[in-house]
Amino acid sequence: MTAAAEPAEQLWSRCAGCASLLYRKRLRRNLDVCPECGEHTRLGAPERLRQLVDPGSLRLLPDRLPEADPIDFVDVLPYRHRLSAARISTGLAEAVLCATATIGGQPAALAVMDFRFLGGSLGCAVGELITRTAERALDDRVPLILVTASGGARMQEGALSLMQMATVSQAIAALREVGLLTVSVLTDPTYGGVAASFATNTDLVLAESGARMGFAGPRVIRQVIGRALPEGFQTADFLLRHGQVDMVVQRRSLRGRLAALLAAARAGRPARPPVPRQEPAPHHERLAGAVPPAVADGHRAVGERPADDPTPAVRDAWDTVRTARHPGRPTTLDYLDSVFDGFVELHGDRLGGDCPAIVGGVARLAGRHVMVIGHQKGHTTADLVARNFGMASPAGHRKALRLMRLAARLGLPVVTLVDTPGADPGISAEEHGQAAAIAENILTLTVLPTPVLAVITGEGGSGGALALAVADRVLMLQHAVYSVISPEGCAAILWPDRSAAPQAARALRLTAPDLCRLGVVDEIVPEPATAAHDDPAETARRLRAALLANLLPLLDVPPAMLVRLRRQRFRRFGATRAGVRAVAR
Ligand SMILES: [Zn+2]
Repeated sequence: MTAAAEPAEQLWSRCAGCASLLYRKRLRRNLDVCPECGEHTRLGAPERLRQLVDPGSLRLLPDRLPEADPIDFVDVLPYRHRLSAARISTGLAEAVLCATATIGGQPAALAVMDFRFLGGSLGCAVGELITRTAERALDDRVPLILVTASGGARMQEGALSLMQMATVSQAIAALREVGLLTVSVLTDPTYGGVAASFATNTDLVLAESGARMGFAGPRVIRQVIGRALPEGFQTADFLLRHGQVDMVVQRRSLRGRLAALLAAARAGRPARPPVPRQEPAPHHERLAGAVPPAVADGHRAVGERPADDPTPAVRDAWDTVRTARHPGRPTTLDYLDSVFDGFVELHGDRLGGDCPAIVGGVARLAGRHVMVIGHQKGHTTADLVARNFGMASPAGHRKALRLMRLAARLGLPVVTLVDTPGADPGISAEEHGQAAAIAENILTLTVLPTPVLAVITGEGGSGGALALAVADRVLMLQHAVYSVISPEGCAAILWPDRSAAPQAARALRLTAPDLCRLGVVDEIVPEPATAAHDDPAETARRLRAALLANLLPLLDVPPAMLVRLRRQRFRRFGATRAGVRAVAR
């Protein structure tokens, strides 16, 4: 982190805001804010930490983790090469730097993301490091501050990067439970899976001047709506106007504001001694004997399908994507008719909307009352349009949240049916806080005191899917897919063009057998030959059997134990977990 002598051409830099030629030392003295126009230039994590904390108080936390390339990802370059290049160019081990320090004399734990490192993307190591920082905050009984700068989840780590949204969120939930303040500071840019989890499900959200934050990036939204975006869209002032952040703060005021907030949070709670730090015993030891075998057992390997299953040979990942999107594939409403009885639909988020892309309500499964929530697509173009192609709005996520909480109060298990290309990437969705809506669902599911069973029935599209899929057991229909990004989206970013979608589909490891091996999915529900759309009745029969086999053991587990086991399930996706290495080669 020590600066070497700078070459002459780096003595000056040109402001991106006003094009003034600025003397670098003068710019740095001004906290990298242009003295001419006020443009806030992006900061690396080391410089950000230096600016935020009291001099002499910084203690960096360990940042070295075993090399992680959990799905052996290769696009035009192997992921390992991209990682090495990022390490060399930034001098950092990963896209986050974590520390303890004081700010205005107030102790805190901090995790600061660095956009220069692979776009600040959230992979297993980043998730693990932020989670450990949150756990350190819990042990030390100090507030947690997260400074975000990220393009989203790291697609080179597939669905495992998506899981990090849940892992970090549940660590934040643990701080909420004991009344420790969590603060996120949005810096430019903060998007995707980071925006839709720990950047927005903290107690307080501050936006630095010049920051932009959103669930969908401007390029994606422009593509979808086919026109230019309004002036100032997704900027800090936009976020403030739409109620999504507590304040917009100039860089020079950030430290003072944080100090004041930390002081208020400290004044409001009696001093409690920190918990002595020690490595926790593995959960399986602590919970031994208390867990029903079917719950503790983990996932069923893909080879262990029922003997009568006439499953054809493994098909290509791109073929599977096409099957998962087949217009004849049964929808959530089809399953509510065929698998469940007595469905009573419940509408509305109680905040001003009812999203047609999410359906939910009470139903019976083999005589047992359950709350069912799922994405709804359709079989005809008219259906699809009416249901927004199964892409939920913030109102849809908030309706789902309301029904989850209602189920917990009533003691009903929750069954979710996931089939979405992704959350709605529109202007209105961003105005209404799409990222925060998804983030709150993810966090709430990590602590929901009732059984939760999720089934990926068709397309499990990124954060929109995870918003319904943080569950005790995650099942997946044989020809469904579950991915951090669509193959087309991944191809557009990492390959020369979108026509590489079939290669991207293979590289992303988005099929049920892949995800079962990675532990993201616990069990595969076999489909009849050739696929669900050929025999919906048989598909429904198999789904019903799988739901019952997985739900019944959960009903006997006390709610507190369920929550502990669910947290354990999502905690194991960190970069150092042995399971992460056990991938198809
Ligand atoms: Zn300027």
